[in-house]
Amino acid sequence: MLYDAHCHLVELGKSYDGVFVAAVSMDLASSKRTLGLLGPKILKGVGIHPWLAHLEDPEKVLPLIEEADFVGEVGLDRKYSEAPWDRQRQVFLKQIREDKTINVHALRAWKVTFDLLIKHDVKRAIFHWYTGPKELLKDIEGAGYFVTVNPSVKVQKEHAEAIAEADLSVILVESDGGYTYRGRTLEPPMVVEAEDFLATTFQVSIKEIERKVRENFIRAFSLSQQVE
Ligand SMILES: [Zn+2]
Repeated sequence: MLYDAHCHLVELGKSYDGVFVAAVSMDLASSKRTLGLLGPKILKGVGIHPWLAHLEDPEKVLPLIEEADFVGEVGLDRKYSEAPWDRQRQVFLKQIREDKTINVHALRAWKVTFDLLIKHDVKRAIFHWYTGPKELLKDIEGAGYFVTVNPSVKVQKEHAEAIAEADLSVILVESDGGYTYRGRTLEPPMVVEAEDFLATTFQVSIKEIERKVRENFIRAFSLSQQVE
């Protein structure tokens, strides 16, 4: 079994055997579609992405959070978002729930996002596709939070360098499925490429990486140990 901690499953419109998927949303429409997904190996996340914070009404998404398994994809983005910073911050804050896993996008806003999560007593958070500073990794580990590694780690140097500094106890794998990176549409089975990268980088067997990823996924989403 593979464990994909961040995937836009509704954008792909397919199901994937052998992959346990944490399905994230971008806005109200995709949040509704995500909640309609069926299958025992799907965790449902709802939320407004920081790129869309100025276009969406958070009040309409908030009731859906109660029905969801986790919150996401939410966060802050200093690089690509056209939404004003204050608006991004306001929308992000409204969606934070201390008792749910927060699946965050925090591009060039890693520290400020981390500080807000801590301030609001969030127990579980995932910094997806981590390219942030290595100094923050110890804080992420100390807080019991996680980072994900994406298959694009093979070609994105800053991602590879950041992940190499992390402890295996905080690493999850993800596809960011549905997103197209450098001409390639990402899909859940590609998380094996991220696992290969981890095995090589940390000099451990694929079996050990699989075991670690499963264990971390269970903790990140507060699942029962009985999960396959
Ligand atoms: Zn994403």
